[in-house]
Amino acid sequence: MSDPHALYIHIPFCIRKCDYCDFYSSTDRALIPDFIQALLKEIDRFPLSQPLRIDTVYFGGGTPSVLSPGQIHAVLNGIHKKFHLAHQKEITLEANPGTVNLEKLTDFYSLGINRLSLGIQSFDDEKLIGLSRIHTRQQAVDAIVNSRRAGFENVGIDLMYGVPNESTSMWQSDLNRAVSFSPAHISCYMLTVEPFTVLHDRIAAGRAPAPCGSDQIQLFEHTVAFLTRAGYEHYEISNFAKGKENRSRHNSAYWRHKAYLGLGPSAHSFDGRNRSWNHSDISLYIESLFSGKDAVAETEVLSSSQQMTETVMTGLRTKEGIDTLAFKNRFGVSFLNLFGPVITRVRDNGYGTITNNRFTLNLKGQTRLNHIVRECVDLID
Ligand code: SF4
Repeated sequence: MSDPHALYIHIPFCIRKCDYCDFYSSTDRALIPDFIQALLKEIDRFPLSQPLRIDTVYFGGGTPSVLSPGQIHAVLNGIHKKFHLAHQKEITLEANPGTVNLEKLTDFYSLGINRLSLGIQSFDDEKLIGLSRIHTRQQAVDAIVNSRRAGFENVGIDLMYGVPNESTSMWQSDLNRAVSFSPAHISCYMLTVEPFTVLHDRIAAGRAPAPCGSDQIQLFEHTVAFLTRAGYEHYEISNFAKGKENRSRHNSAYWRHKAYLGLGPSAHSFDGRNRSWNHSDISLYIESLFSGKDAVAETEVLSSSQQMTETVMTGLRTKEGIDTLAFKNRFGVSFLNLFGPVITRVRDNGYGTITNNRFTLNLKGQTRLNHIVRECVDLID
């Protein structure tokens, strides 16, 4: 039996496209029935030389909660038939508060989904409108309350901060409200302006203010201090868990650069060396699978340098940082020798340390993450 894998299922449908979002999704929900059939074909035709053990399943998107419980049930059945799911599996479903009620959440729970990730973003109606979300503050609250009533113990709340002109006290209100529900997990994502989004075009045309980088860093530091005091472990740059047992096991596999399998349009797969990704086009995805072909758009073999780069990029985001011994075992290169100048600078500036063979960044270092990663990557090349 192979090592356990993380299985990601991309559900590429949304009720409406949010202005800041660059994830692949479509609002053409008439395609859902064919998409489900295509997804089942993709699961079924996945080549296996040995039983593949799946530790975590993650329904992401898009908005997986636009699917009916019956449709999620069909996909889970397909997964169960094809793969060997670990006994202690984590099955996460991302849900948009504007798409769920108590009955739907109860049905999702009864299917074996044991972790719910709620895209709350804010408890402030004005901020939600500014982000062009479909839900209201009240729907956000109802989704949390109903998820508990439905049986979910492991509920994660996603919040977004750093929108233009957001003050610390405005953001504090969102944090206070989130903590008042005592969720198992809180993700706090900084608003970033991605190319090819409505928000990007609006800012470029001078019709909207750009988020302010220094304000965002200040809010990030505030967030970490507040949530840590509230009993949450800051285990990844944007993620906080109530104890280790409530960390996202699925996302932790990405951050540890482990193998994962991705199904659905635009989903990526990685086996430790090779990466492939599916067509980012639902119609093409459906067409390919209906005509007996796979849905892979491209495949690349990661060079050793690329693998090192990714290990650094993902590892430095985490509380555990980079295991320097594992790095040496994997790449045959001494981490300390290769990155010596960066490690020295990081240590001298008080941005992080090497302790017990782990290179980690502290909060100050995390605010300079991109810069430190760039410095490391320069040494790899
Ligand atoms: S609901 Fe989520 S995936 Fe869909 S457009 Fe908004 S942010 Fe993107």
